[in-house]
Amino acid sequence: MERRKVGILGATGMVGQRFIQLLNNHPWFEITWLAASDRSAGKAYAEACKWKLDTPLPANIGAMTVQPNVPELAKDDLPKIIFAALDAEHARELEPKFAAAGCAVISNSSAFRMVEDVPLVVPEVNAGHLDLLEAQAWRKNSGGYIVTNPNCSAIGLVLALKPLEERFGIESLFVSTMQAVSGAGYPGVASLDILGNVVPFIKNEEEKMQEEVGKLLGRSRGNRIEMLDAKVSAHCNRVPVEDGHTECVSIKFRKKATREEILAAWSEFAPLRGQHLPSAPEHPVEFDSSVDRPQPRLDRMRGHGMASTVGRLRECPLLDWKFVVLSHNTIRGAAGAALLNAEVLARMGKLDKLGVPTGNAAQRQAVLA
Ligand code: NAP
Repeated sequence: MERRKVGILGATGMVGQRFIQLLNNHPWFEITWLAASDRSAGKAYAEACKWKLDTPLPANIGAMTVQPNVPELAKDDLPKIIFAALDAEHARELEPKFAAAGCAVISNSSAFRMVEDVPLVVPEVNAGHLDLLEAQAWRKNSGGYIVTNPNCSAIGLVLALKPLEERFGIESLFVSTMQAVSGAGYPGVASLDILGNVVPFIKNEEEKMQEEVGKLLGRSRGNRIEMLDAKVSAHCNRVPVEDGHTECVSIKFRKKATREEILAAWSEFAPLRGQHLPSAPEHPVEFDSSVDRPQPRLDRMRGHGMASTVGRLRECPLLDWKFVVLSHNTIRGAAGAALLNAEVLARMGKLDKLGVPTGNAAQRQAVLA
């Protein structure tokens, strides 16, 4: 099968590097275009980027020239699939330009996650929400669109929550996170602030977790998502861990659940099985019965970094049950999540006619007006 050409916007950052690592030798996608800020444009990737991953930078990628962030300048070299790893401010400005140029923008940023017609998707949880993108003005007018994945803490959490919501219904949820430093990008948090320390504040993180969980577990109602009717309270903390976000969760269900029923819900959860997606983990939620797991150093690479590990399930004297969730923040929580979204979009045929407007003349006129 011929591989589809893809580009990475924000290719030099922490998430951009993960994209390069995960896309290296990917059976469906091939990197043909890399872009970052004006600071990096025109340089060889190896020179522009401080490579921070524990696998070598592929030589062919290191030799590629970082392109400007302007779709028009790329002309025919612009791939129609763009993985975007920009901070929210730049994403708000740049992602629409790529969607307007007919690209599928598969974004990690928070800029458009809560916009009504933009799907916020974790494929095992709510792949059906991808139909929302057919309502987007870009799709009608240019054949492009924007799809997003959630915040790195919300992803690990909703994987564990989805099978529980399906069987018991969630009434309320309390979650306290211990988030790795790589979640702040590079150079991120100053070493003097984080070594031997905990920082009990991550800007906008608690709000993002609370609202994104509601949208991810919400119901599709035509061209909008009805938010999950549950109370969610999040505390977010930065801790001196390199990779892997740990989350302590207490939960109240609408229907009583036993320990055995909760464990069965997690172990039977395999919504993508049979689709043969290269990045989908065999078991999206893995339960570890050891008293002291999950731990970031030991468990973040389960399912090639794409599984969410749960453990320490026990009764909660305040709500019903409590447990611990762990997931890799730059793989499952970012680049791997976007890649899995792209694989599902490919399976759905939504990467086939990019750049071909879906709207009729009247609809396109209305969009332009
Ligand atoms: P980062 O390490 O700070 O990287 C930012 C990237 O954006 C760099 O490649 C940078 O290029 C590029 N950039 C900055 N300004 C630009 C511009 N005007 N035009 C084009 N590119 C520009 O950040 P990150 O951790 O990779 O995060 C990227 C996004 O993913 C953020 O929205 C973040 O919230 C989200 N996210 C991150 C994680 C995580 O665990 N790190 C998880 C989930 C979601 P230069 O090198 O040229 O400056």
